[in-house]
Amino acid sequence: MEEIGHWINGKRVAGTSGRFSDVYNPATGEVQARVALASPAEIDAAVADAAKAQLDWQKVNPQRRARVMMKFGALIERDMDKLAEVLSREHGKTLPDARGDVQRGLEVIEVCMGAPAFLKGEFTGDAGPGIDLYSMRQPLGVVAGITPFNFPAMIPLWKMGPALSSGNAMILKPSERTPSTALMLAEIAQEAGLPDGVLQVINGDKEAVDTILDHETVQAVGFVGSTPIAQYIYGRAANNGKRAQCFGGAKNHMLIMPDADMDKAADALIGAGFGAAGERCMAISVAVPVGDAAADALIERLVPKIEKLKVGPYTGGDDVDYGPVITAAAKERILGLINSGVEQGANLVCDGRDFSLQGYEDGYFVGPSLFDNVTPEMDIYKEEIFGPVLSMVRAKTYEEALDLVIDNPYGNGTSIFTADGDTARDYAAKVNVGMVGINFPIPVPLSYYTFGGWKKSGFGDLNQYGPDAFRFYTKTKTVTARWFSGIKDGASLNFKALD
Ligand code: NAD
Repeated sequence: MEEIGHWINGKRVAGTSGRFSDVYNPATGEVQARVALASPAEIDAAVADAAKAQLDWQKVNPQRRARVMMKFGALIERDMDKLAEVLSREHGKTLPDARGDVQRGLEVIEVCMGAPAFLKGEFTGDAGPGIDLYSMRQPLGVVAGITPFNFPAMIPLWKMGPALSSGNAMILKPSERTPSTALMLAEIAQEAGLPDGVLQVINGDKEAVDTILDHETVQAVGFVGSTPIAQYIYGRAANNGKRAQCFGGAKNHMLIMPDADMDKAADALIGAGFGAAGERCMAISVAVPVGDAAADALIERLVPKIEKLKVGPYTGGDDVDYGPVITAAAKERILGLINSGVEQGANLVCDGRDFSLQGYEDGYFVGPSLFDNVTPEMDIYKEEIFGPVLSMVRAKTYEEALDLVIDNPYGNGTSIFTADGDTARDYAAKVNVGMVGINFPIPVPLSYYTFGGWKKSGFGDLNQYGPDAFRFYTKTKTVTARWFSGIKDGASLNFKALD
């Protein structure tokens, strides 16, 4: 049985706590490895070494740190297929989707190649007689990233890139369900020139997380995961005086106006609803057609597309559309929610409950399911299902649809399909959701913008990646300087690089 340990001070090390968690192959249900769960003592030692390494790393000039990012990006591209394979083996997503997971993380590293531009301060000359006023952005020290199972490459890279290129050291605690990709990324970062100790990847569970949250040396926590844990981590980190940005779960709605291109809307719903088995925080899980004609037109198009979806293991060939969900417990929970939808009166148009795949009977597969006539009181509407289940809530008017989204406690992403620019503008302006798509189903902003949900999808200030991330991972120091006299000599005529 493979044993997965930690990445500490530039090498893979075995865990010493004696505690482990099983890592499954979700397609077969078999345990394929066990991952060490770090003890408080292991975290303490890793944080202490990271703090030492950070002192040197922050002195490396920003451009040289950016060069490490440049090389890191190139090596991630070189190893794209290997990373995708490792990722799919633990997560279960298809290989093209796994490459997308790596790619969207790589794009953040590409922006971090320009980190020096984000780290510049401000300057006001002659703010008073002989007085200059300037600000600088300085790294925080040791920061932590705590990441979920569903994007094992992308989200660790969203954390690492801005934190490290800003001169911090990072303790990264990936999901214990998909631990291997982050370890591989750490190895690649070392090859790219990242000094040992600056990135420590520590596997673990609640015990490790709580130790990080209470650790005096750790200055900031960037978390991504479910809403209850995001809220818990935000509270505990803030209570300990740390910066915290904690991104949580979602219930993303897509409005389909009567004037929308129904073929395109249906295709978008299939991709955004069922891709990655619905295990994306930006998945569309609620379709809100406005008017019965739009609803009926969508159902007519969705059903045959859903019936054609191919569900299978990532090794099953290029035509597999999506894979298993992450654990047996996740599958049980999803099936339980589908049952509750039926009991509470929704119309189960496509039923994925009995899906079984020959040769993979113990895998955690759930067939694609579509509910019509869902209402806001039902559990399938209230809960984040995080599975291949699309719910349709019929709205009579645009205003009713808009209010539905406004009243929903989550606010990660949303989308509107329409041919009318005025409706689209109105929706984008009024909706209280962090990321909006117009005729675009999964509006994950590109890496030079920034990613973050509102309401119960995001706790704390400042978003992930883009300019916000550099603000999150640095603190501002402002200097007011007055010089009474000076000696103006010692000019150099050489044109040379700064060290
Ligand atoms: P999760 O909350 O179970 O776990 C996330 C991390 O928190 C893991 O590293 C885990 O080890 C740790 N953790 C779990 N329970 C803990 C506890 N009691 N105390 C301390 N730490 C704990 O989330 P998940 O199941 O891995 O990921 C899926 C969730 O993440 C979904 O809700 C999804 O919407 C959300 N998500 C959100 C975003 C976003 O950007 N908003 C992105 C991806 C996923």
